[in-house]
Amino acid sequence: MKINKHRSYVGTTPMGTELSILNYELDSEREGKHVYIQSGIHGGEITQWIIHELFLFLKKNLQQGKVTLVPCANPVSWTQRAYYSTNGKFDFYMGKDWNRNFPGNPEGSMGERIASVLFENAKKADFAIDLHTSRESIPFGIYSRSEYENWLKIIGIKYNQFIDMSKSSAYANTLNAGLDVAGISNLCIECGSHDSYEPQNIHEVTEGIKRLLASLEMIDTKLTKSGPKEIITFSKTVKYTAPKGCILRLAKHLGSKIKKGEDLFYCFDNNELGAVLAVQSEHDGVLFKASPTHIYWSGDDVIQLLLDEDTKILTTSI
Ligand SMILES: [Zn+2]
Repeated sequence: MKINKHRSYVGTTPMGTELSILNYELDSEREGKHVYIQSGIHGGEITQWIIHELFLFLKKNLQQGKVTLVPCANPVSWTQRAYYSTNGKFDFYMGKDWNRNFPGNPEGSMGERIASVLFENAKKADFAIDLHTSRESIPFGIYSRSEYENWLKIIGIKYNQFIDMSKSSAYANTLNAGLDVAGISNLCIECGSHDSYEPQNIHEVTEGIKRLLASLEMIDTKLTKSGPKEIITFSKTVKYTAPKGCILRLAKHLGSKIKKGEDLFYCFDNNELGAVLAVQSEHDGVLFKASPTHIYWSGDDVIQLLLDEDTKILTTSI
């Protein structure tokens, strides 16, 4: 086993500090597949728990092929900090989502330079995974081609959202969309909530990645735990927003099944002390994503449900 650490230079700050992206290449020194796993294109999305765990595991157990781990895919987004909050989803200079610059350009904006380095690495792999977190959420995969459903069954993350990135201009320049065009199988995994340590979620994703590596014969299957018998895919979601400026608390926990007419959240308005407004669901579904705050302006996103009408149950091969 060889572990190669390599820094790719992406540019400099105005004061001359060099910016680079660190890759760990774990090489079993035996023929086999190559898997690329990236973390942290968006600052504040702590998925490095999974990278640390995989590194230790693979150092001991990688038997064929290579795994590239990128703990911090973006040296700039993690510097965008205000008090205890790292606000790294958007490039503050360009006003653009950091994950909309792919396939990138080595002579373009900082975001495009970063994307170019990442993309050049990711496209060498047989399979690429982009790890994220999503506001406050349960773990879920995001996949962009129906043929990837076989991979979803192997990985076994319980919920998986289908987004046809070839038809959606909103997702056209993500890493996943770029890899689709390059012909590399890929998956984005939302590993749970922003800036959190959620052991159960970390476990679900880490074990899923191990099952993928075992299916590619890169690790021994005996080292994996079996996943769920069924997984769920969905593509339709609905958003509920704050009807007015208020402080707000949720009526349900993340992952709860919701029936039409049930309370979703409660609004507390300074103009109506003593009166609590309950907002009820107009849909049947699962609460899979919530905003990481209790402080709302009129019209802000509060929660998202994935809709029962649209879910598909896939039986896994386990
Ligand atoms: Zn993200």
